[in-house]
Order: sequence, then structure tokens, then C-alpha cells
Amino acid sequence: MKKRIGVYVHVPFCSGKCAYCDFYSLAGRDKQMPAYEEAVIRHIREYSPQLDGCLIDTVYFGGGTPTALGADRLIAIFDALKKYGNVLVDSEVTLEANPESCGRQELIRLRKAGFNRISIGMQSGNDRLLETLGRRHNFARVEEAVVDAREAGFKNVSLDLIYGLPAQSRDDWAGTLAKAAALKPDHMSCYGLKLEKGTPMYILRDSPFLPDDDTQADMYLYAVEALARYGFRQYEISNFARRGMESVHNLKYWRCEEYIGLGPAAHSYMNSRRYSNIADLDEYIGRMTSGGSVIDQMEIITEQEKASEYIMLGMRTTMGIADEEYRRLDPMGMEEIARLLEEFNSHGWAARENGRWRLTPEGFLLSNTLIGELLEAQARQRMLWKRRTDPVDDMQMRMTGMAQEPVPVFKGM
Ligand code: SF4
Repeated sequence: MKKRIGVYVHVPFCSGKCAYCDFYSLAGRDKQMPAYEEAVIRHIREYSPQLDGCLIDTVYFGGGTPTALGADRLIAIFDALKKYGNVLVDSEVTLEANPESCGRQELIRLRKAGFNRISIGMQSGNDRLLETLGRRHNFARVEEAVVDAREAGFKNVSLDLIYGLPAQSRDDWAGTLAKAAALKPDHMSCYGLKLEKGTPMYILRDSPFLPDDDTQADMYLYAVEALARYGFRQYEISNFARRGMESVHNLKYWRCEEYIGLGPAAHSYMNSRRYSNIADLDEYIGRMTSGGSVIDQMEIITEQEKASEYIMLGMRTTMGIADEEYRRLDPMGMEEIARLLEEFNSHGWAARENGRWRLTPEGFLLSNTLIGELLEAQARQRMLWKRRTDPVDDMQMRMTGMAQEPVPVFKGM
């Protein structure tokens, strides 16, 4: 039976660089678009023997700004994928778009070609804050883009928002959420601003105008509550959807399912291997043209690592994790992990429903720390298991002082 996979296409072009952006995206490189298109199509052709054994049920054009590439080139790449791969007719085909680069006529053509989900970078409903972020659109243009997408026939529209912006108040954030909800999208993603080294906004990292951690946490919890009121169910730390409108492609990442990545800086997970393409447009084009490999880094994911990824990625979602699923990856089960989750539960950070453990919104706020603790519990569980099943090894460990009694399951925050 053919397995189902997703395909991610990284489009690195943008009409300008936003002041907070540390993604692999390039402004002023439009001249390289034809060579990029050719390289990606060549990449698809090279993959075709592998693709032949798979059914593609999601395709995601992300970036960068895919719409900056123009409808003709996007359609040419998608057509190549349909020609050399088995793209299912009911696939979810997502296009990331920025309001300044998605005209109605182009969207009509893209919709006709099979793109059926659009994710628009709204970021804020406040024009002053959009300017601070270095965005090249105002809120009025976002409104037009949503109308254009609907008129083009997109039945699945998502909006991306950012909170925790310089001098942003909770009321301003509440206003942005209300404006976004009034546009009646099907899906929303809300991300807290992170100032990354190397970006122009990094100089603001110690600014008193930036909302502090408590205010950002307050904004996050407000978003969870407000979006529920507007009819959106949280299904991942930062993602909210109307019933049945969750991003199927992004769920693949969190469910440790397989996907391939095309384009510079794209990541893949296939046949127990995670690998990334070189994050350099010129190199990517050059190597594709000369027949060289574009893979930059690759690691083989062992069964143990798969069990760890199941925890790391599963606990990002409201589906969470279940013992039965965990045992398929790791026969020793998740006894220690469940003990720690009970502790989290007593703090209001985790909840158990229908045999599944998940983090609560308060737990999501601490997700890095809590997931780190869960992975430590997993390591302890492995050590205990080893001692139970391998007494010789246990004796050797005791003699060399390596074995330790299990440490208390919860270290506190
Ligand atoms: S549009 Fe997106 S990818 Fe492009 S510079 Fe802005 S944040 Fe980065």
C-alpha cells in the first residue's frame, strides 16, 4: 500500500524584509525567480522514483512569500508535482500569502489550478504597529485580501497574527483579535513576538516599551479565551480552527508523519531520516543545475528518538499523548512520564481526558520547560527499565557508580 506524505515547498522571495524576520527569506532577488522555478522542478523530477511509491495528500507553499513568486511560477511547480507525484484530488493545498502580493486575478488562477487553502499574514489590526514591524501593508489591505480570496473561491482562509509587540497594550491585542474574527477566517495562528539576534528589531530587546513576560502570557491566555468565544478551537500551542478546518499539513509535523521539503532551507522527514536542504538560494540553484546534492544535514531517527519526538511534538497539540500510542514506539511504556503529568495536573498545567494527556493553555505557556521535564522522566524510565531487564548491566553500573536511584519525579518550576 502506498504511504501518504506531505510536500513542503519553500519559496524564499519577499517584497521586503520585515524588521523581526529571521526566516530564510530574501528581498530584491526577483531576477533569480526563473532559475529557482527551474531548480525546484528539477528537484521534483529527481524525487520522482521516491514519489512514485507515495500518495501526496497535502502540499504547502511557505516562505518567504510564495505569492511574491507570481501565479505562473507557482502553478508550474504545482503542475510538476502533479506530473511526477501522485497528488490526491482532495489534497489540502496551502499557499502562504502577504496582503500586498495577492491580487484577485492571481488568486482566481491559483484557485482554479487546485490551491484550496490560503494563509494570509495579517499580523496586526493596528497600522502603526504594522509599520513598526516593517510590514508593507495596512489593515485595509488585509480586509481586501480576504475578500479577494473568498471571491476567488478559497473556502479555507487562515490569518497569522503576532502579539507582544512594542508598546502594544492588551486592549490593542484584543482589538486585533476582534478585527481578525470579523473577517470570518476559518483558522488563526497567533505567535508571540520573539526578537532574534541579527534582525533590526533585536536592538529593542531591553526596551521598556516591550510587553514583559507576564503581559505576553496574559495576551496569550486572552487569545485562547477570546478565540473560543469567536468559535475557534485551539488544537496546538499557537493554532486555532473552526471545527474541521485544522491545517492537515501542519498536523503531519506534530504527529511525526512523513513529508518532503523542496527549495532552499526546506526540511524533510522520510524513512526515519530528518534532513534539511542548504539554506542558500544560489547554492541550491547551482547544485540542482550541476546534479549535486542539496542536502545540508541529515540525521537518522532511532526508535528511541521517535518516542522522544512523539512526546515533544504531541504535547504541543491538544490531542496530546496516550500510553497505547507511546507503547508502539517504546515497549517500556510511559509510567514515569504519567507520574510527572499527574504532578503537572495538580498545578493546572496538564489534563487527562479519554486516556490522553495534554497540556492546558497555562501549561502551553511553560511548554519548553514542561516538555524538557517529560523527556528527563523518559530518560529515568529507560534507566529503570534497563535495570529491571538487564541485571548484569545493573550490577556493573552500581559497581562503577553510574546507577542512581530515581530522582524525585518533579523538580518544580
Ligand atoms: S513577509 Fe514573512 S518571510 Fe518575508 S520578511 Fe516578512 S516575516 Fe519574513
